Amino acid sequence: MNIHEYQAKALLKGYGAPVAEGVAIFSAAEAEAAAKQLPGPLYVVKSQIHAGGRGKGKFTELGPDAKGGVRLAKSIDEVVANVKEMLGNTLVTKQTGPVGKQVNRLYIEDGADIDRELYLSLLVDRTVGQVAFVVSTEGGMDIETVAHDTPEKIITVAIDPTAGVTDADVKAICDALKLSGEAASDGAKLFPLLYKAFVEKDMALLEVNPLIVMTSGRLRVLDAKMSFDGNALFRHPDVMELRDTTEEDAKEIEASKYDLAYVALDGNIGCMVNGAGLAMATMDIIKLYGAEPANFLDVGGGATKEKVTAAFKIITADPAVKGILVNIFGGIMKCDVIAEGVIAAVKEVGLEVPLVVRLEGTNVELGKKIINESGLNVISADDLDDAAQKIVAAVKGN
Ligand code: GDP
Ligand code: MG
Repeated sequence: MNIHEYQAKALLKGYGAPVAEGVAIFSAAEAEAAAKQLPGPLYVVKSQIHAGGRGKGKFTELGPDAKGGVRLAKSIDEVVANVKEMLGNTLVTKQTGPVGKQVNRLYIEDGADIDRELYLSLLVDRTVGQVAFVVSTEGGMDIETVAHDTPEKIITVAIDPTAGVTDADVKAICDALKLSGEAASDGAKLFPLLYKAFVEKDMALLEVNPLIVMTSGRLRVLDAKMSFDGNALFRHPDVMELRDTTEEDAKEIEASKYDLAYVALDGNIGCMVNGAGLAMATMDIIKLYGAEPANFLDVGGGATKEKVTAAFKIITADPAVKGILVNIFGGIMKCDVIAEGVIAAVKEVGLEVPLVVRLEGTNVELGKKIINESGLNVISADDLDDAAQKIVAAVKGN
C-alpha cells in the first residue's frame, strides 16, 4: 500500500526527520490560509498523487507549455494562482501511464534553498536478505537514467538486523553521499531513524529523492515515497487510515475484498488460475505464444464458488480483456467448484469474449461435465500448452 508524500513526511517527522513545514489542501479556497501558515518567501506547491516524476509531469488540460506538477512560488498570490491552475486537473508523469492521475490534493510547503540533490532509499534487498540503504550523489529527477547509464554511481549499504545502523554504516553512507560537517552530523541522526521507521512500520520501500543539502549546509528530506507491506498492515491501523483508495486500481480494490491475489496488467487476455506459480507460468506461456496477459490472478487453494464468481466478474469488467483463460490444476481446489463459479458469474454478467477452460486434477470429470452441460460457449483445452494457443488464436481472431 502506498501513501501520499505529505503523509509520509508527517510520519517521518514523528520520528524526528528534518522535513519542511507544510499544509495539505483539498480545495483552492484553502490555499491562501495554508500559505499564510508558512514563513515564506519561497513556497512549493506539490501535486499529491501516488506516482513519482511529478516535477517533470505535464497537466493534460493545460497544454505543453504549462509548468509541471511541482511548482515554486515566490509569494502567497503565486501560490494561490498555481493552486487554482493545478487542482482538479490530470497530471501525466513517467509513472502514471498516458491516462495520468487527477490531482485532488496539493501540499503547500516551505521552500528550501538547495545546494545538492542526493538520492536515498531503503528497501528489502532480497539478494542479501537484509534491509539496505541505496544511495547516490546523483539525486533529483533523473535517478532512472543514472541507474541505467552510470550504475556505479548507485551504492548499496546493507544493514545487519542484529546490529542496526552502526557507526560504520553511517560513515559508509556519508562517504557515498560525500557528506561532511553539519550535513554528516545530520546524516548520523537521520539514517538510523529512517531505518527505525522502516522496520517498525513494516515498509516495503522508503524513497527520499531528493534528500537535499541546503545552502545552509543542513540536510532535509525534500520528497518522500513510502510503501508498506500489505501482509503486515493489520499491525498498523494508523497506517491503514492513510489509505487513499481513489489512487488505487478499482479492480485491485475489489479483489482485495475477496482476498484474491490480483494484479492488473496491460495485456488483453484475462487469466484465472490457482496457485501463484501456475499463474506465473500461465502468463509466461501467453507471452510465449505472442499475446499479453491482462492480469495476474491466483484464486488460491481453498476458493469458494463466491470467490471464483467475484474473480471472474473482476476479469470481465476490464474493458481491455478480449479473451479469458481459466487454468486450474485441482488439488485442494476442486474443478467442479471452479466450474460452478465460472457459470454463476457468466449467468450474472454475460460472456462477450472467448473463454478457454483447462481443468485438471481433483473432480476434473465432474468439472468438465458441469461446463459441457451449461450450454456456455466455452472452448475446452487438454493441457496448458493447448489452452494458451487456443486463447491467443481466439483473441487474434484466427
Ligand atoms: P517528483 O518530481 O515527483 O520526484 O517531486 P519532488 O518532490 O522530488 O520535486 C521535484 C523537484 O522539484 C526536486 O528535485 C527539486 O529540484 C524541486 N523542488 C522541490 N521542492 C523544492 C524546494 O523546496 N526548493 C527548491 N529550490 N526546489 C524544490
Ligand atoms: Mg522526487
